[in-house]
Amino acid sequence: MKIELSYEQEKYQLEFQNFTDEVIKPIAAQIDKEQSIPKEVINELAKKGYLGSMIDEKFGGKGMDAITLGLLNEEIGRGCSSVRSLLTVHGMVALAIQKWGNVETKNTLLPKLALGEVIGAFALTEPEVGSDAKDVRTFAEVDGDYFNINGIKKWITMGQIADVFIVFAKCEDKPTAFLVNRETPGLTITPISDLLGARGSMIAELKFDNCRIPKENMVGNIGTGLTHVALTSLDYGRYTIAWGCVGLGQACIDDSIDYTRKRKQFGNFLRQNQLIQKMVTEMVVDVKAARQMCYYAGYLRQVSDPDSIIETWSAKYFASKMINQVASNAVQIHGANGCSSQFPIERYYRDARINEIIEGTTQMHEILIANSAFRNRG
Ligand SMILES: Cc1cc2nc3c(=O)[nH]c(=O)nc-3n(C[C@H](O)[C@H](O)[C@H](O)COP(=O)(O)OP(=O)(O)OC[C@H]3O[C@@H](n4cnc5c(N)ncnc54)[C@H](O)[C@@H]3O)c2cc1C
Repeated sequence: MKIELSYEQEKYQLEFQNFTDEVIKPIAAQIDKEQSIPKEVINELAKKGYLGSMIDEKFGGKGMDAITLGLLNEEIGRGCSSVRSLLTVHGMVALAIQKWGNVETKNTLLPKLALGEVIGAFALTEPEVGSDAKDVRTFAEVDGDYFNINGIKKWITMGQIADVFIVFAKCEDKPTAFLVNRETPGLTITPISDLLGARGSMIAELKFDNCRIPKENMVGNIGTGLTHVALTSLDYGRYTIAWGCVGLGQACIDDSIDYTRKRKQFGNFLRQNQLIQKMVTEMVVDVKAARQMCYYAGYLRQVSDPDSIIETWSAKYFASKMINQVASNAVQIHGANGCSSQFPIERYYRDARINEIIEGTTQMHEILIANSAFRNRG
């Protein structure tokens, strides 16, 4: 479905589709099994400029518009949720720096992030702090021209491989954002494996034990960590996740339709059974609806409409719930084969589940969206 895509956007869409079919899809099962994205795949993403897709051209990125970024995340999400996660968290760091970083950091770090020479990861969650992010316990103390950071971050996507982390810590009791390099003395990185889904996300726990970082590594100001820096990152994260769910939904539809064409029961192909047709219909319509919401959020982002934030919440909320039902239908249509690792469906089902938890849970979105609706009625 193409909604008034420009010539360039259509060209990009075709490029992303081909890239996913040729580079990502063939290796997605391996990524899931080995719980790791091979370096060659990251190099391919870098070569295509996708790691700089969200970074301005003046810093060496592609400076893609919001819709094109959406199409990229849809297509990569169709191929592999873990690779899409890499694009998401890397972009969350890049955009935080681009919007809130100081001139020096922008000029030195953004070109490296754009080329994929440096991989970024986003470190907000802690063992005891998840949805209530303002309660972060990690803290940063001023020490002359340095900050000393102490605390623990958990569930950090790409934590196993990232070169730089954007870390949220209390400074003078106010949430503040800092960049911490992987090599900083006092930083211990412990891999977390065997998650339910998005198993190639190379998740880690980070322990900061008196990590001394220069003052220039603060992003934004003391106290703007959540209200400004994380807001920028999470808004982008939600947008890309919503599109990623659409792509994953499309994969569920494509595989299910192919299966119903081949599998016969009671002397008929599954596709001739009206109960199967009902499930396919629901999948198609639900994915279409989510895609429309993503386009709408993308369009508002493109024209810098402030409503883009609430429409991004809505798109992420709807798409992440939608993909769980769509993936469940895909399993049902495949029967026992849908439960077998011989087919990608069980991976889609596991990957789908993560989307209702990351970048704000379904419940946090319900609170945000309802409060916004109440405000709008005065
Ligand atoms: C695969 C994966 C990747 C991740 N990657 C990252 C990452 O890169 N960086 C990062 O910082 N974090 C990451 N996370 C962590 C993620 O952001 C958190 O899991 C999420 O914010 C929820 O926090 P929590 O798990 O501590 O749940 P909790 O906040 O403990 O919530 C538990 C449950 O209670 C509900 N709940 C909580 N408060 C309320 C309330 N007031 N009203 C109603 N319901 C409520 C929640 O919705 C949820 O269902 C990742 C998690 C996963 C699973």
